Amino acid sequence: MSESPDITHAISFDIEDWFHIVEIKASEDPATWPSFESIVQKRTRQILDILSEANVRATFFILGWVAEKYPDSVRMIAERGHEIGTHSFWHRKVYELTPDVFRKDLARSIDAIQNACGAKVYGFRAPSFSITPGTEWAFDVIREVGLVYDASLFPARRAHGGYPCQLGPHLLQWGEGNTLPELPMSVMDLGRFRFCFSGGGYFRLLPLRLIERGIRRELKEDRPTVIYLHPRDFATDCPVMPMPLYRRFKCYIGQKTTASKLRKLLARHRFSTCYEVLRQRGWLPAVNPPEDVTKIDTANE
Ligand SMILES: [Zn+2]
Repeated sequence: MSESPDITHAISFDIEDWFHIVEIKASEDPATWPSFESIVQKRTRQILDILSEANVRATFFILGWVAEKYPDSVRMIAERGHEIGTHSFWHRKVYELTPDVFRKDLARSIDAIQNACGAKVYGFRAPSFSITPGTEWAFDVIREVGLVYDASLFPARRAHGGYPCQLGPHLLQWGEGNTLPELPMSVMDLGRFRFCFSGGGYFRLLPLRLIERGIRRELKEDRPTVIYLHPRDFATDCPVMPMPLYRRFKCYIGQKTTASKLRKLLARHRFSTCYEVLRQRGWLPAVNPPEDVTKIDTANE
């Protein structure tokens, strides 16, 4: 039974492999990627099964490289009626790219993902939430390649990104009157610290009651919570990459708790896609899921 009947939270997955962790020397060069054992297909299937059990639709921000290598997995996601988004092609941090390089990367990812499954891509999440102040040109590029919303902003300080934006879904404004529907990551303030409670390493690390506390705080402000996870967050058998100890702690703790926490949250609250959460606020056209989100409308191409 849902505790929050009037609010739909967003659930999202960044579909990349375990070796797509940024700034780890051993996997920096994409030429090394095919030599690593992959977990992405197996763990994506596990995620799909958890969502099917709960009858919940989610958004999958897929790395173009993964879509090219494992098109069957992308097809399976789309066939189950989930929303397909892009997580870029090469998993490079946006603030390190030029607008032109970013445009080509993003366009290539959209082609790879749409070719794999025939679903139309509407939204983007930057690798490592790497749209930072000064990188606003990225919003122009996102619109230029035909995307209609962004889910890349992380309104707190973090190692590879962070953008001090309004909390909760909003119409992002930049330049001269430009707007884009934005679904930033949820954060929780604890004393002087602001951190993410509903995604990635924190989701694995925090006990469920703290995640629930974050959700309740968001509800008080009428904000939905955004959950984001990766296939590797479920991988109890994840191969270990050489990296500094503090990063290893954050990358490899709590994997065995992810699935059970997620199942409980899906049973207690109402979740849907990022697109749906923004649509409910009137910033995106109505769709009739799953058909309209997962099929390319050639009339509008
Ligand atoms: Zn990523």
